[in-house]
Amino acid sequence: MTDCIFCKIISGEIPSTTVYEDDQVKAFLDITQVTPGHTLVVPKKHVVDIFEYDEELAQAVFSRIPKIARALKNFDPRVKGVNIVNNNGEVAYQSVFHSHIHLLPRYTKEDGFKMTFTDNSKDYDSQALQAIATKISEQIKD
Ligand code: 5GP
Ligand code: ZN
Repeated sequence: MTDCIFCKIISGEIPSTTVYEDDQVKAFLDITQVTPGHTLVVPKKHVVDIFEYDEELAQAVFSRIPKIARALKNFDPRVKGVNIVNNNGEVAYQSVFHSHIHLLPRYTKEDGFKMTFTDNSKDYDSQALQAIATKISEQIKD
């Protein structure tokens, strides 16, 4: 993709700070550094989002995540945990349309990264949950 910022980073046309690289995957520091060490893991192949992954690409990208996450956990003794986030679609806060996985080292609960999980469990009985699960299951394809 000629007009993709992450393809340009992968080709070296735009500089980046590399954390890890192999033939299929590159990991580099996110320019915003939401928390220190905030890293993006990207497939070298241009795909827009998770919906375009086949199993082979998923294996390439996701199999690299644990060792990079361990490195982020261990590079600074202040790191107490790591959030792994993958945004797909503008509504899901995706702003760069070359798929990427955010790895965010966590220092404290007030370190700059926030995520809200609203508890709507009172709105769902087991029948309502089953109806949703059935509809999703019907959409799962190889
Ligand atoms: P998204 O919002 O799509 O999930 O994440 C895109 C991320 O790419 C943002 O966190 C943003 O800071 C990062 N980003 C955008 N442009 C650049 C760039 O030129 N270099 C680096 N290293 N990160 C970038
Ligand atoms: Zn790209």
